[in-house]
Amino acid sequence: MLRTKILTTTMNLILFGATAAVLQPAEVFAKAATAALPASNPFAHESTLPFHAPPFDKIKDADYQPAIEAGMREQIAEIGKIAASKDEPTFANTIEAMERSGQTLNRVGAVFGAITSANTNETLQKVQAAVAPKLAEHQDAIYLNDKLFQRVKKLYDARASLGLDAEQTELVERYYRNFVRAGAQLGEADKAKLRELNKEESTLTTEFGTKLLAASNAGAVIVSDKAELAGLSDADIAAAADAAKARKQEGKYALTLQNTTQQPAQVSLENRATREKLFEASTMRAEHGDANDTRAIIQRLAVLRAERAKLLGYPNYAAYTLEDQMAKTPEAAEKLMTDMVPAATAKARGEAAAMQALIDKENGGFKLAPWDWQHYAEKVRKAQYDLDESQIKPYLEINRVLQDGVFYAANQMYGLTFKERKDIPVYHPDVRVFEVFDKDGTSLALFYADYWKRDSKRGGAWMDNFVGQSGLLGTKPVVFNVCNFTKPAAGQPALISWDDATTMFHEFGHALHGMFSNVKYPTLSGTGVPRDFVEFPSQFNEHWASDPKVFANFAKHYQTGAPMPAELVEKIKKSKTFDQGFATVEYLAAALLDMSWHSLPADAAKQDVDAFEKKTLHDFKIDMYEVPPRYRTSYFAHIWGGGYAAGYYAYLWSEVLDHDAFYWFREHGGMTRENGQRFRDMVLSRGSTEDMAKMYRDFRGRDPSVEPLLEQRGLKEESPAAK
Ligand SMILES: [Zn+2]
Repeated sequence: MLRTKILTTTMNLILFGATAAVLQPAEVFAKAATAALPASNPFAHESTLPFHAPPFDKIKDADYQPAIEAGMREQIAEIGKIAASKDEPTFANTIEAMERSGQTLNRVGAVFGAITSANTNETLQKVQAAVAPKLAEHQDAIYLNDKLFQRVKKLYDARASLGLDAEQTELVERYYRNFVRAGAQLGEADKAKLRELNKEESTLTTEFGTKLLAASNAGAVIVSDKAELAGLSDADIAAAADAAKARKQEGKYALTLQNTTQQPAQVSLENRATREKLFEASTMRAEHGDANDTRAIIQRLAVLRAERAKLLGYPNYAAYTLEDQMAKTPEAAEKLMTDMVPAATAKARGEAAAMQALIDKENGGFKLAPWDWQHYAEKVRKAQYDLDESQIKPYLEINRVLQDGVFYAANQMYGLTFKERKDIPVYHPDVRVFEVFDKDGTSLALFYADYWKRDSKRGGAWMDNFVGQSGLLGTKPVVFNVCNFTKPAAGQPALISWDDATTMFHEFGHALHGMFSNVKYPTLSGTGVPRDFVEFPSQFNEHWASDPKVFANFAKHYQTGAPMPAELVEKIKKSKTFDQGFATVEYLAAALLDMSWHSLPADAAKQDVDAFEKKTLHDFKIDMYEVPPRYRTSYFAHIWGGGYAAGYYAYLWSEVLDHDAFYWFREHGGMTRENGQRFRDMVLSRGSTEDMAKMYRDFRGRDPSVEPLLEQRGLKEESPAAK
């Protein structure tokens, strides 16, 4: 997953300050002129560290809010000048000037967004709550500024005759579209209404994130009797003891919650009652009717978004959102999903039947329940493929996976090399920093890796930039990956699961997209692409985890260094499509929930959260008791707390591209430097400098085909030629 840049993307284009909406221009400028940021604030000037890396050794919690507020004021002044200019609008004095504006805000926003996700605390949460509505207002004050919009419109109307290059033309079109979509063409009364909706939405989105983190932490299952944990490895039990200790429950065990419905511990837990308890804790985490219950916020957010869409002239929020995505319409996205429902549920039912047969054979005397799925799937996997997760783990030591897997693949494909930098300050001792060198040995980027789960981190995995690449600003990328792998207890080897290893390749795919960016304008740079395209480079990069050459290079025993035995490799390969019915159904259920919530018209958007969820799953025939959605509505952070509202389908959409592109590699000799260079030149370096459908077509030689995806998920027989 790619974390949405709640602050950074909204800031690229933003102008005017929090109070601009209610103050007259003269007052705004008077305010802007006062209160410069003291030079002692680390965000007051560009970082002097290599690559302008954030000076984490100097940044304190108290530095953020004044820097954000000063950053907004600075941008007010900059944008005020652009809008008030008596000169005829030109690309340079309007569009390019906006691209250069707000650098203090960008600087602090990127770091603040990163830290509030990966290492937050109560102080920072308070700052977040305080600045979120101001930032929403700040953004509106830019987009709803009519003078500014008229300048953009003039350039947009004349764009063909301005002598602009392709990237500049794309940028003008982007600005114009962004202004229109933000309400620039509305009358004053509607603009005021829109401002209120935006402000409330931003407050509620922040509140949702805070409540969900608290709910997930509070939802940890505390176990007193070690016997209830039977099946867990010694390392997992030690980690659970550590987690309990951190919760001041010394002597007990805590099974902490990950953000998804199903929890990794379910695989090994032999005690059915413990599994049920863990499942209940996970699925009900945000529905206890207490302070952490998220349902009232969700009800209100659905209404706010539907009203915003209506105000802007769209039938619903999904139609509004999808318009500037690769899919273009909710119907196109929904069709991709609903077309897959019959094959996915049929495969999942087959998987369930195999598990029930095993339960019956063991004289279990019960019907398969959702809390049994992971556990029995693992047993079936062992029986059918003689494969056991615990056989694999000793071959997945995290540092080897990183250096000899993730980095090695990037070297084979793109010629990159890496060197750890211990001199660059970090925000937490778990974080590691690497300098990335290009194929000719020149310095390309900085890469931060933050892999271990902790309570100060929100769930999931993501990538983002501290500094984005831009030819205009002369900046090189500083990117980071954050994951939530279970930290080994002190003294234990850092062994991860195959899922975790794949996640590392995934997030690094996003990192490559950020690091290879070679564009001029910040708005079009790196991962600033439509959501249904952004997961393409990351999911594509996952393929290299199981490439035979790469796999052999990193999958070595942590003690002996011996390669994984050939028969184990063969078993993993054979079990590739195992449980894909489950994975597809739980994903489709969540994605269809998202699309349905955001397809409600304004007059019907207020819904009972649980009843609507139930009805939606039923209507789409994806209400399988044994396979609940990957996220239930009440803890679906992607859509209520992140930027994936009406966008969770994007993973599947991107997956069509990633498998199809991978087949191109297969047809052209696989992982070669030449193929890598072509992919880098035609996709990874391009940001969003042109229409994504065209970019893909140019690379592939045709439009994407869904067949490779269906084959790779085992939902369709693989054609012999393709193997
Ligand atoms: Zn991703």
